[in-house]
Amino acid sequence: MKRTNLSEVERERALEEGIDPSLVEETKVKWVSALEIISQVLSLDCSNIEVVYEPKRVFAVGIDWYNSQSNLLIGTPRRETPFDYYPDLEAKIGGVAHEIGHLADYDQYPDAQYVKSSFGGCSLRESGISFEQRASLYAFALAPTEFQALVKTRIQSNRKRKSGVEILWRYDGEYEAIETLGEIGMPRTFNVARFLKELFNQASSSDEYVESSMKSSLYGLAKSPDSDLVMLDKSYDEEELDRVFSEYMKGKISEEEFNARRRELRSVQYIEGYNPAKSIDYRWIIRDPAISRLQEERKKWQRISCTPEVRNDMITALDYCIRELEI
Ligand SMILES: [Zn+2]
Repeated sequence: MKRTNLSEVERERALEEGIDPSLVEETKVKWVSALEIISQVLSLDCSNIEVVYEPKRVFAVGIDWYNSQSNLLIGTPRRETPFDYYPDLEAKIGGVAHEIGHLADYDQYPDAQYVKSSFGGCSLRESGISFEQRASLYAFALAPTEFQALVKTRIQSNRKRKSGVEILWRYDGEYEAIETLGEIGMPRTFNVARFLKELFNQASSSDEYVESSMKSSLYGLAKSPDSDLVMLDKSYDEEELDRVFSEYMKGKISEEEFNARRRELRSVQYIEGYNPAKSIDYRWIIRDPAISRLQEERKKWQRISCTPEVRNDMITALDYCIRELEI
């Protein structure tokens, strides 16, 4: 049984943040159960992974993967995010799956020197997607429903943290789907940029939040897997992409201009025949139940009413994972 109560150090950290320790404790209990649930679908011994409250971290959850004693570090609630960033258990399971994905990735590429922690940034020669995307893809293959819950909750919690305002639009399900696909580096035949522009223009306020949150959706492949770039080359300038995208969303440049700039920046969203699911390691996933979970999710997506391209792109992503697990 994992320790769920707070240590003295954790209690002090909570008080330093001005957060009620019992709220932190409640959050920790849920992370511990998420970890226990994930350990049941992995052939990996998770018994040495401790859940530790670490509010100084930038992210709401992380893992210190370089230690033999790995810790799942939880960063909220804290001063600037005084609530549980991933409140429901489902999203927490997706979060733990992503962090386990980092462990699997580190195990697969032990000599890699990761230089930049971002979705679009560094990438290994073996893979057209970045290491964050590989961790997310691993989580998606392991727990597809929960990973999508994680993305959805992140969108909602970001809204809550940045604006405190609930922004309502018609497309929530599709927006979450394209964010998910961007985060896992899966190909999209769907015109993501046009969709986001439409979404931006119908948001009730032109607040910065809407603009700044639309990022993962755009991240496609970090680089072409066939390209001969240096192993840890930062393949495109994300800040520049964000800037150009912002101009496009505000109607300052046309779609053609945006696409041309994007090509110059070598931000690639889709390469015919490239399958990112081949770049990750499924060794720790207990295969048969994982395939059933993916097939269940596939059935759900067949029934969802949404733009056909979004549905097809999501089903392609699920199929790619199913096929790799079946090998
Ligand atoms: Zn990560």
